[in-house]
Amino acid sequence: MRDGKRALGMLFLGILLLLGNRGRAESATYHEVQAGENLWVISRRYGVALKTLLELNGLSEQSILQPGMKILIEGERDAQSGSLLYEVKQGDTPWGIAREFQIPVRLLLEANNLTEKSILRVGQKLVIPLSGDGRLKASERTGTQGTTQPQVHTVRQGDSLWRISRQYGVDIRSLMKANGLTETSILQVGMRLVIPKETGRTAVASSSSATSWGTYTVKEGDTLWNISRRFGIPLKELLQANGLRETSVLQIGQVLRVPSRGGVPAAPQRAQQGFIWPVNGRISSRFGPRGRGFHYGIDIIAPVGTVVRAAESGVVSYSGWMSGYGRVVIITHASGLQTVYAHNSVNLVREGQRVNKGDPIARVGSTGNATCPHLHFEMRRNGRPVDPLEFLRR
Ligand SMILES: [Zn+2]
Repeated sequence: MRDGKRALGMLFLGILLLLGNRGRAESATYHEVQAGENLWVISRRYGVALKTLLELNGLSEQSILQPGMKILIEGERDAQSGSLLYEVKQGDTPWGIAREFQIPVRLLLEANNLTEKSILRVGQKLVIPLSGDGRLKASERTGTQGTTQPQVHTVRQGDSLWRISRQYGVDIRSLMKANGLTETSILQVGMRLVIPKETGRTAVASSSSATSWGTYTVKEGDTLWNISRRFGIPLKELLQANGLRETSVLQIGQVLRVPSRGGVPAAPQRAQQGFIWPVNGRISSRFGPRGRGFHYGIDIIAPVGTVVRAAESGVVSYSGWMSGYGRVVIITHASGLQTVYAHNSVNLVREGQRVNKGDPIARVGSTGNATCPHLHFEMRRNGRPVDPLEFLRR
């Protein structure tokens, strides 16, 4: 899994590891947690043992990852004197940085002679003290979900109610209700939102309700056209809803009114319940032990270019390249189930996109470790692989 190291565009490269007393700088590899990921997935993706990941990051198998968290993949860290040098990025706040590295904001401020009111400059270097008791215990971590405590989300730069509701798979209205918010409420970075517990009812599942509106906070690189596409509404409608013109200039942090359920008319519900076959074809390899290893999915033989369809409605939580998997799409569904579609010749969906059951999401190929064109299809329940044939109708 050595190529895992080069295969990743999301590595957090702005960090140099300073080995305190030795004064030696080394690069360390970080992975920024994406929605729907867990430690198991990350360990497989980088080919790093789960145990190593846990040790490197002071986590336990029960630790719950929050999107945006930075996970150390490799690079030594001196537990006693180690500290990291972090380069401030657009939109960073001391609070947000402290949260990302899971240290008390007080320690961060002290280590850099800052106050809570200090303004950070992009490019400014901050010392991140990670020594000894600096790191919070799992139970003290922001947003960490205890077994009985309600889940809390701390608002980050770029968050919107719509995005948070999608991230946790909760209905946007329940989210607003739980926090006394309305559709026009503006979120502040650092605000804590209670994530209401919902079983079996998700933002995705509620897609048959009437169009409701949410908000979207403009991020770097956004354009009106991209946003309209992402939310599935005509540009004209987006402009109208926000009193904008095509030539209007977007500001980072600007809050736009967007449909909270994608805006597109809901696809007619297919009569078939449950997961459908992503492609039709012969199964060449089943789930289970294979050779000296274990095959975590099923392989379905199909010609290059065959359309791969979403086995169930959900949100695309990953669309890109993964070591071994080649071009891969991961869709997160209600109740913790995920489907994985690997070795694609082309991916047709983007991260964050909502898809309906049966929608085309990719085309069959043989990218990654594949000897012939086929779809490698996995299903995971709460991050653990399960046999897809238990879910697919024969
Ligand atoms: Zn396979």
